[in-house]
Amino acid sequence: MPPLFPALGHEPAERPALTFGDRSLTYAELAAASGAVAERVRAFARVAVWATPALETAVATVGALLAQVAAVPLNPKSGEGELGHILADSAPDAVLTAPGAELPAPLAALPRLDVDVRAAGPVPADDADDDAPALIVYTSGTTGPPKGAVIPRRAIAATLDALADAWRWTGDDVLVHGLPLFHVHGLVLGVLGPLRRGGSVRHLGRFSPGGVARELAAGATVLFGVPTMYHRIAEALPGDPELVEALAGARLLVSGSAALPVHDHERITSATGRRVVERYGMTETLMNTSVRVDGEARPGSVGVPLPGVELRLVEDDGTPLAAYDGETVGEIQVRGPNLFTEYLNRPDATAAAFTADGFFRTGDMAVRDPDGQVRIVGRKATDLIKSGGYKIGAGEIENALLEHPGVREAAVTGEPDPDLGERIVAWIVPADPQAPPGTEELAGHVARRLAPHKRPRVVHHLDALPRNDMGKIMKRALGGHA
Ligand code: ATP
Ligand code: MG
Repeated sequence: MPPLFPALGHEPAERPALTFGDRSLTYAELAAASGAVAERVRAFARVAVWATPALETAVATVGALLAQVAAVPLNPKSGEGELGHILADSAPDAVLTAPGAELPAPLAALPRLDVDVRAAGPVPADDADDDAPALIVYTSGTTGPPKGAVIPRRAIAATLDALADAWRWTGDDVLVHGLPLFHVHGLVLGVLGPLRRGGSVRHLGRFSPGGVARELAAGATVLFGVPTMYHRIAEALPGDPELVEALAGARLLVSGSAALPVHDHERITSATGRRVVERYGMTETLMNTSVRVDGEARPGSVGVPLPGVELRLVEDDGTPLAAYDGETVGEIQVRGPNLFTEYLNRPDATAAAFTADGFFRTGDMAVRDPDGQVRIVGRKATDLIKSGGYKIGAGEIENALLEHPGVREAAVTGEPDPDLGERIVAWIVPADPQAPPGTEELAGHVARRLAPHKRPRVVHHLDALPRNDMGKIMKRALGGHA
């Protein structure tokens, strides 16, 4: 297979590749440092990477890919129980880490390799098989314990090239990065993506609207973020003219990993004149759809299938929906070169995830508009509420609640109800904790905006919604039916 990183060793030597805080590597330095890692890990079958937001994590991952050794990124914030589970499941031969990092107990038994970003080794051929496992990435654990998705090299190349087409992503782009490096968003899109294009990454270490404004003002062109980051940006915009100017001048703003509420889309667009491009993907499938930079963007739409991705919506019995009417909800199934190969050590889960004709069952529910744009309604397991004979998506109710001035954050779940089957429950973080909007007020607001049967019957007030490290709402923790 052609190289995953055609730019490594070929770009002008002084071209910047990676910057984390005050430390940078040019393409020549990255080639040498990742070549040195490749030499050290060559004899292994699999290595874990202690994925702090640091230069070493990027160099370790590229080095393992060059050595054709599968890399397992570990979330440094995982508890010992989760780490123990992931290590027992993936059985790495060693752990790659930044010098000086303190590793918790479950890692003590593994050989430790400190990555030296100034070391130099020869750049290997970068010519592995398409099907060779490149990464084993654990899912976010939003709906159950994380599962290890085995991601082949082909899927990485396919998804990054499809995104390059949709986003006109080139080696001239400079990415502002504030995401963690142990999921596909931050690692595959945010690090391997720019490196495949020959562009550069500037990682903030820790996301802040001020850091984004600074990097964009200094010449960065692209921002990748999760909805909680865009929410913070939307909140900061009214009082921050520098942030407004920086975003207005960006080439591309992308959101993914969870739905970006329509209210935040609208606030960002009205303040900056820029739209946020949403894309939809999963650990198992990498990216499936995106709004295209040359296409129409409607807030709430995740765009159209990326080149090479076949996408269909199916009914409960697996029959594909006949037409796109913008209303009928079906489960998203996808097929294409972007898919993972299997869940590690879980042949049962792998078999259950695929249809006989090779489509992956995403568990996400959506409608498609007549022009083919996909709008995600929510997850089959937690976001589809069956109430009074209707199937109701939590997402549109959350969007409606967020338009109420008294609501800062909102999540909607279903709970058993003797009359309705399930009743709609809203969990809100009030804008003013001293004066939270009441149940009747919010029920009336939703009924007027959507339809009476979509109104919440119960409203709970919280100080904050339970979220995981990607900012995804953990509905399991809200007593949502999972
Ligand atoms: P687990 O599978 O362990 O429960 P998870 O599904 O959250 O966790 P990921 O693979 O990181 O783990 O996330 C993929 C999911 O994120 C998708 O199935 C979808 O529900 C959601 N998602 C991603 N992008 C979007 C988007 N733009 N809009 C709405 N949902 C999205
Ligand atoms: Mg999932």
